Amino acid sequence: MDFFDFHHHKKNTLYGIYNIDFGTVPPESPYSIGIHPKDITVDSVEEQFSWLESNITENCLAIGECGLDSMVPIPQKIQEQIFLRQILISNEIKKPLIIHCVRKFYEVISFKKKARQAVIIHGFNKKERIAEDLLKNNFYLSFGKAVLYHLSLQEIVRNTPLDKMFLETDNECFNIEELYSKVSELKGISLEQLNEQILENLDTIKNG
Ligand SMILES: [Zn+2]
Repeated sequence: MDFFDFHHHKKNTLYGIYNIDFGTVPPESPYSIGIHPKDITVDSVEEQFSWLESNITENCLAIGECGLDSMVPIPQKIQEQIFLRQILISNEIKKPLIIHCVRKFYEVISFKKKARQAVIIHGFNKKERIAEDLLKNNFYLSFGKAVLYHLSLQEIVRNTPLDKMFLETDNECFNIEELYSKVSELKGISLEQLNEQILENLDTIKNG
C-alpha cells in the first residue's frame, strides 16, 4: 500500500505534495508553491510573487507553505501582507492553502475569513486548546512525526475528526507508514480505512 505524504521536501517522494524550494522550478509530480515567511526578502517582494505566479502549473495542488512565524526576523506587518496576497492567489486559482504557523495561531485564524478554499495547518504539534479552536474554524490539521512520540499530540489526533486530517513527513526522514499505523491505532480503524479517508480528504480539498 502507498501512503500519501501531505507535505514534504523530498524531490524523490512522488506520492504526496512536494513543497518546492523558493526560486526553483516545479517538478512533473504534485507540488505546492508559496513564499515561506523565512524566505521573504522585503526589497524584492514583486519578483518573489512573479516567481510564484508564473510557476503554477496543473501539477500544483496547493499554495504554501505560507503563513506567519513569530521566530523569523521579518516584521509582522510585512508577513501579514505577504500571507494575505497568497490567500488571494489561492482564492483566485481555487487551490487549497498549506499554512506554516509558529506562535501566531490566533492571527492565522483571523485571516481564515479571507480564504475561500480549504486551509490546512501543516506540522501541527501544539496544544489541545489551539487544535480545538482551529477545528472550530474549519481548518484541517496535518500531523507529522511528533505523533509517534508525544502522548498529548496523540490525544489531539484521537479528538480530531478523521475527515479533517492529513499526515506528512515534512523535513523528517522516516517511513510515513509508521505514522499511518500509529494513527490507525489511535483512531481504532484499519490502515486501509485510514488510507482511503485521507484520499477522500484530498479530493474534498481539491474541490474547494
Ligand atoms: Zn515544510
